[in-house]
Amino acid sequence: MAPRWENQQEGTSLTEQQRDDPAPEIDLSELHGRTYKCIDDCALCCLCQPELLPDEERAFRAAPKLAAGISESHISPEVEGAAIGLKGRHGACHFLSEKRCTIYDLRTHYCRSFPLNVFVGWRVQVNVNMSCRGVGLPGEDLTALGERLAAGYGSERLSKEVSSANDVFTQFIRNTRDAGVAQSFTSVRGTVEMLEDELTEPIGLSRVMTFAEHGNPRENSSAGDIVRRVRRTEAEADISERALMDGVELFDLPDLSLLPVYVDQELRWKIFKLVGKEIVAYDLHEDGRTMETCRIDPPSIDLLPMNDGGRSTMREYLRTINARDCFLGHGAYLCDLEGYEYNFAQVYLGAAANNMIDLWWRASLLARLAGTDELGPREIREGVTFFDMDLLDLSTIGAFI
Ligand code: SF4
Ligand code: SF4
Repeated sequence: MAPRWENQQEGTSLTEQQRDDPAPEIDLSELHGRTYKCIDDCALCCLCQPELLPDEERAFRAAPKLAAGISESHISPEVEGAAIGLKGRHGACHFLSEKRCTIYDLRTHYCRSFPLNVFVGWRVQVNVNMSCRGVGLPGEDLTALGERLAAGYGSERLSKEVSSANDVFTQFIRNTRDAGVAQSFTSVRGTVEMLEDELTEPIGLSRVMTFAEHGNPRENSSAGDIVRRVRRTEAEADISERALMDGVELFDLPDLSLLPVYVDQELRWKIFKLVGKEIVAYDLHEDGRTMETCRIDPPSIDLLPMNDGGRSTMREYLRTINARDCFLGHGAYLCDLEGYEYNFAQVYLGAAANNMIDLWWRASLLARLAGTDELGPREIREGVTFFDMDLLDLSTIGAFI
């Protein structure tokens, strides 16, 4: 019998023949109804070191002006091969000058695609980077941009990519079954959908975190059963403490190029770094210079209360990440990392809760700096601006192409 790969999202199975279909499914749902316009003087995306595809690398090496910008390595150790260098090792792209691209017509595939990302798992999905402040502004239709972007790869290439990503997902499913921790993709996503309220308030988050660490659901439990178990779980996890620990850890990196970058509403680039016991906020300049703007005592950044509008914005973001195949792949990556010790739904719920806590903490940090004591839609949206680029960068099974 031909090996079968189960498309658990749809509850169907794909045969080898279907896997080789030259026209894989392309999911553009995250882009529907969204528009975008690039903002002059933002250039946030020019702080993310663009890697060079093999063709681009050849073309860059052949032209001295372009070759001068090549760096033989990427700041992220997972990215192999050549990339464009950053000014001063952690500033902007070599080719940025006063927030203008000096090689605009020759810019890389990465630069042309931004703010879209194409992820390949059991299908192709196009995601939008919500750290881009241009998303939501009246302008180009992101669905049309996403269609063009995906079409640019050609069916054959996409089929090949999907086929090899399918192998990884298939192996993951087998591993979860062998370990007795299997759970369908539909069910894990369903638990997050049903636990939206819990995942956006402290007691609920504490319950979910406690369940993620100590719950013991049966293999292939229904989403409803898992949700009932979560709701019966004692809220033992200390959410504020975890938020602080994770938040601080994120800024505790020796290399400035690895710190998360935030572009504020005045389009200033900001980085935050743990120095001793304090978080130091810096303005980052194109050439990599930093200028300290303030110091913050980490325990003073508690999770600020959210009003109804803030919670509703947070729920919307939770829905977005729950629909992302790369986030599901992140849950699978964690399950694998933890040696298939826990039910997949537990791991996935834990990842969703962790990310909501991290977002909440970052929104609180920014709000505190802005002198605000309550998180409404605007403050949560700022948190998402600071956070989404890092979420899209989480380790995952499947691949961005
Ligand atoms: S992050 Fe978005 S708005 Fe900013 S420069 Fe890049 S594409 Fe334009
Ligand atoms: S090549 Fe141009 S668009 Fe791309 S990151 Fe560099 S400056 Fe920005």
